[in-house]
Amino acid sequence: MAKVEPGNIMNEDQDESLEDCPSDCPKDGREEDSCIFCKIVQCSAPSHKIYEDDLSLCILDVNPFTRGHCLVVPKRHVPWWHELSDEENASLFRVAKIVSERMMQELSPDFVCMYARGRRIAHTHIFLVPTYRGDVLDRFFNALELFQESPPELAALREEKAMEDVAGLLRMEK
Ligand SMILES: [Zn+2]
Repeated sequence: MAKVEPGNIMNEDQDESLEDCPSDCPKDGREEDSCIFCKIVQCSAPSHKIYEDDLSLCILDVNPFTRGHCLVVPKRHVPWWHELSDEENASLFRVAKIVSERMMQELSPDFVCMYARGRRIAHTHIFLVPTYRGDVLDRFFNALELFQESPPELAALREEKAMEDVAGLLRMEK
């Protein structure tokens, strides 16, 4: 049985043309040369582009969980979403919202699931998945949420003392 692996993004055998690549796309060749999302941003790899602004690009995921599953990536190679500049962060979530509203209008899902992980491809990518009750990702997250309550090592984390300790670490001074 195939493993469900969020983040399984690109196939090697894509053959879409690059004819939509704008002539002013960035081509700055750095260590990110091997990054598939940088290649897509630089138009040296194919993609189905959905929407973009100056800082972010939305494309179809080539291994969709549901019809219309998209990824939003920053145009700069930033491994983790919390390393984005404030401007990139604002752009990424603005583009995600614009595309999600379009998904709701055109595909009528129950809602659009959003998450960011990036263990496999360390270039920030936000998953936007039109979600319907009982679809693959819906079942996956339902199972994960049930699992969340069961392992003994997680039970220790929700003890009151442990919760107070970590809250104390994470709270910011105002
Ligand atoms: Zn990259």
